[in-house]
Amino acid sequence: MPAPGSAAGRPAVVGLPAYRAEVPKDLHLVHITCGGCTAEWAGADRAHCPTCHVTFDSPVLYDVHREGGRCLLPRTLGLVATKNGIWGRRAAG
Ligand SMILES: [Zn+2]
Ligand SMILES: [Zn+2]
Repeated sequence: MPAPGSAAGRPAVVGLPAYRAEVPKDLHLVHITCGGCTAEWAGADRAHCPTCHVTFDSPVLYDVHREGGRCLLPRTLGLVATKNGIWGRRAAG
């Protein structure tokens, strides 16, 4: 329940400097995009399938999903997707 007498409006925040994302020059974060879909991910150890456009946490998982020469659904391999849409093994625990 709202407290009685609380202010109806908040004072506008003014005078704050714009936030700047300064990226250190020595940080070489590999940023990769796919030419066939809108997926983008960071990290050279990730593997993105050019056929089914699923991003895997490691090339090993990519190989597993290509078993038999065709794409298997990552879910059928027991993989789970992170919030970034990268499929990997379920976290231990
Ligand atoms: Zn695939
Ligand atoms: Zn793709």
